[in-house]
Amino acid sequence: MSHDTPAQSAAQSKLVIRNIGLLLSGDLDRPILDADTVVAVDGAIHAVGKEKDVDTARATTTIDAKGAALAPGLIDSHVHPVCGDWTPRQNQLGWIDSCLHGGVTSMISAGEVHTPGRPKDIVGLKAMAIFAQRAFHAFRPGGVKIYAGAPVLEQGMVEDDFKELAAAGVKFLGEVGLGSVKDGTTGRRMVGWARKYGIQSTIHTGGPSIPGSSLIDKDMVLETDADVIGHVNGGHTALPDDQIVALCERSPRALEIVHNGNERAALLALRTAKELKQLHRVILGTDSPAGSGVQPLGILRMISMLSSLGEIPAEIAVCLATGNTAKMRSLGCGLIAPGREASFVFLDTAQQSAGRNLLDSIQKGDLAGVGMVITDGAVSIQRSRNTPPAARVPEVVRA
Ligand SMILES: [Zn+2]
Repeated sequence: MSHDTPAQSAAQSKLVIRNIGLLLSGDLDRPILDADTVVAVDGAIHAVGKEKDVDTARATTTIDAKGAALAPGLIDSHVHPVCGDWTPRQNQLGWIDSCLHGGVTSMISAGEVHTPGRPKDIVGLKAMAIFAQRAFHAFRPGGVKIYAGAPVLEQGMVEDDFKELAAAGVKFLGEVGLGSVKDGTTGRRMVGWARKYGIQSTIHTGGPSIPGSSLIDKDMVLETDADVIGHVNGGHTALPDDQIVALCERSPRALEIVHNGNERAALLALRTAKELKQLHRVILGTDSPAGSGVQPLGILRMISMLSSLGEIPAEIAVCLATGNTAKMRSLGCGLIAPGREASFVFLDTAQQSAGRNLLDSIQKGDLAGVGMVITDGAVSIQRSRNTPPAARVPEVVRA
């Protein structure tokens, strides 16, 4: 019997993924890696390389990718969860689990604003944010990680409120503009307090989403200077083109494009960011659940739409939904690199796609097929029940 090296004690779980046909790193600077094997120990990526060069011994789980592509688990930068795996927006159960079947392993709340009877007084909104942060930290449908507990700014909040929220574990603000703060001066002051205590911010951009919300134009977005320009393509109603271009040109902040937005405006924002050589700022979300429903394949659809109509290589489009978001949002997932969270999606050409291979099929506008999803080093699902069937599906050869 061999002895354990210090790098691997007996209690550790070791995942080996071999026979990867295409390794999509999620990193815009190097989106495709020359590697066919990934090793993860205790839920974190340990090695990425050629099988002969990495230590695959004593795996507790081995997966044969069968030549399919491996990408980081997709990140949805903009969701509106409420409680558990239920949304009152369309009165639907299991929507988060459905998104897992679309390759999503991490979601960021842009505010639990659909909560029936949402408290708008300050003590109430703080209590709700802390509750949501705790509840979704402990509850992960299918393994999906939900960064929730995103309070919406209301008039009367003071610096100590942000200090208290941060100390309680709150890391994100809900969309600025969905509460009673609707002017840039107040928004900027509160976003500054949030930033001081390590809380990230997002601002609603564009026309009202649903009755009760309101227009946020480019002047308010620029003045407030939140970390993320939420749905720069509108949610759903977009700003005029010149204002979208101005946001791309005049703000250094993340440019979030959502599924539940104006698709033409999405392409305008993408093209402008590309011309400015600032594609690293572009991140993707769905803004679901919404009036137009829950979109289990929303992020995959965005990847195909932006790649095919926006004319960016598919491997770059994948970065917008993975590494870009992780970097702009300071998450530990989103890249296939040592030290990162071992959350992955296996993708392959959908059966009968006219594309020559996975990347070509996405560039032609088809959706990728999901063959398996892994969260924190453990298999969450095998073949997706929601995507078109992948041509090649990985197999657990030893568990
Ligand atoms: Zn919004």
